[in-house]
Amino acid sequence: MVAAASLARLGVPVVLIEAEDEPKTDWRASTFHAATLELLAELGLGDRMHAEGLVVPVYHFRDRREGLVAAFDFTLLADETPYPYRLQLNQQHLVRMLHERLRALPEVELLFGTRVTAVEQEPGGGASVTARTPDGTRVLHGAYVIGADGPGSTVRRSLGVDFHGYTYPERFLIASTSVDLAEALPGIAEVNYIADPHEWLFLLRTPESWRAVWPVPAGQSEEEATEVARLQRQLQGVAPWAAGYPIIDRQLYRVHQRVAERFRVGDIALIGDAAHINSPMGGVGLNSGIHDAVDLSRRIARIASGTSPAVAEAELAAFADVRHRVAVEYVQADTQRNTQRLRETDEERRRAAHAEMRAIAADRDRARAYMRRASLLESVRRFGVGLPPGQTAPQAPAPVH
Ligand SMILES: Cc1cc2nc3c(=O)[nH]c(=O)nc-3n(C[C@H](O)[C@H](O)[C@H](O)COP(=O)(O)OP(=O)(O)OC[C@H]3O[C@@H](n4cnc5c(N)ncnc54)[C@H](O)[C@@H]3O)c2cc1C
Repeated sequence: MVAAASLARLGVPVVLIEAEDEPKTDWRASTFHAATLELLAELGLGDRMHAEGLVVPVYHFRDRREGLVAAFDFTLLADETPYPYRLQLNQQHLVRMLHERLRALPEVELLFGTRVTAVEQEPGGGASVTARTPDGTRVLHGAYVIGADGPGSTVRRSLGVDFHGYTYPERFLIASTSVDLAEALPGIAEVNYIADPHEWLFLLRTPESWRAVWPVPAGQSEEEATEVARLQRQLQGVAPWAAGYPIIDRQLYRVHQRVAERFRVGDIALIGDAAHINSPMGGVGLNSGIHDAVDLSRRIARIASGTSPAVAEAELAAFADVRHRVAVEYVQADTQRNTQRLRETDEERRRAAHAEMRAIAADRDRARAYMRRASLLESVRRFGVGLPPGQTAPQAPAPVH
């Protein structure tokens, strides 16, 4: 949807094909970082997102037994971005806003309830999609196909592109409650990563609820893991709450660290979870997918406005190269490190990780560098988003929403 909105804004017609009958409303990602807010502001979504979201400038790295280890304050980045904070807003709200936008745009045709079954390159350039529609089968032809079809991507499989990586043995459980956890656990921030060798946690606030995430051991069944009485006991173990925790949402999911071997084959490209998936520690999965979408759409728009075949080739090659590097060198590297820091069981390594976090937070320059990475500003300033091939000058921050 971000790619479609971005292409349409740049005057490129798009057909958006979605298997579901309606946009999904399930609770998934909940954080928007500074670099992403800059891009979404350009799409005209900044005001609405800020009206509905929570501005969270500070987050904590904590230890379940020892309490606060280090506090990180994004306002250190105020001279570099108009958005020196995390905006907490559940993903389905961005989806809703984008859907409303796309429905109103004449450049966009929305085909919901339509499942892509295969993609092919056309002999003279361009690509086609075969899709199962409610009425039968349809083949659509276009100059480019963007596979934004999630981790099980049909587009990626159709291209025969490998999805290298691994799956964590533990699954992650998300339980959401309407109780204000800041009241139950005074002193916590609105986003908290909490290390523990037995049951690490992450606690974060969204406009609707507080959300707790913890690991579920490999042997435990889904029924056991999501049983309401068990969730209640676990939340009570985090912070006693006499009236009991109303649990308003629960989900169990597998977490992977995987990157597609290639982000592009000819005129077909992969973005978002179709191209890379990662642990949610740091909240960068959805964010980096949005960066892929804007990067690619800017390039396609330049190609569509008239470039030589050689320049078009260089644009797509640059997309595939830059976004693959960001996925590996930033998104995968940082989320693996963040996850390991929380789940570390070796006492010596655990202490060393805590000492490192304390040292980073205590040193202004190191804290700043750390938060530039965490907010995805560093990768965006280093590589730009959809910069013409060969251009490396850093982009200026977007204007304030
Ligand atoms: C439970 C859960 C919690 C999460 N929490 C976080 C978090 O805290 N932070 C974070 O950053 N990320 C989180 N994520 C990940 C985040 O939600 C994803 O990174 C993000 O949704 C990726 O967007 P996408 O558009 O690439 O893929 P998706 O959101 O998966 O969208 C793909 C779309 O393609 C459609 N589709 C699939 N196959 C076809 C086909 N063959 N034909 C047509 N349509 C098709 C699907 O129906 C879907 O609508 C979470 C994910 C889950 C499941």
